[in-house]
Amino acid sequence: MAKKKKIIKTIKVDLDKCTGCLACEVICSAFHSTPKYSSTNPDRSRIRVLRDELRGIYFPIRAGAYVKAECAGRAAYIIGGRDYGECNLCNTVCPSRDLFKEPDSGLPLRCDMCESEPPLEKPMCVQWCEPEALIYEEREEEVEEEEEREMDELEVGIEFLVDKYGLDKVKEALTKVEIARRGGS
Ligand code: SF4
Ligand code: SF4
Repeated sequence: MAKKKKIIKTIKVDLDKCTGCLACEVICSAFHSTPKYSSTNPDRSRIRVLRDELRGIYFPIRAGAYVKAECAGRAAYIIGGRDYGECNLCNTVCPSRDLFKEPDSGLPLRCDMCESEPPLEKPMCVQWCEPEALIYEEREEEVEEEEEREMDELEVGIEFLVDKYGLDKVKEALTKVEIARRGGS
């Protein structure tokens, strides 16, 4: 199978530097609002900071892939002498919790590395993280051409709706929307 070069973008987190300021949540939700920067709402952010203020421990977690089923993971981590459940530190968007779901629609959110046109030099959360707890990195990797494609946000959203309501209902709703739009134009 043909191989192709791909730029892998990632954000490393230096937990020791995170102050829990939440600037990353604010700017992520503003950057992804429509129109851009029209509102801020951490519930719409694709990065959330788990806060343990008494111990001064903060974990920035970026939204990962949406999965249809909850996992069986029940591992616990001891950090700074305190137990944290696996769910607290997981970035997967799953049915078990409301984290990384759009608050009005329930649609899954995912970190898209602030892909935009023109491209940003660095993702917004990295730019706004003054203590430099978020470190942006790029590396080049060879990938199989077929493996390269990931579902985009629209496809993930539609898949979520189909899982929730069934394909027929979604088609019916889209038809109604189309008819309403034609009527309104
Ligand atoms: S902006 Fe940086 S320091 Fe502030 S909460 Fe986010 S990751 Fe932590
Ligand atoms: S990279 Fe962009 S989309 Fe991802 S968490 Fe940071 S600000 Fe949000």
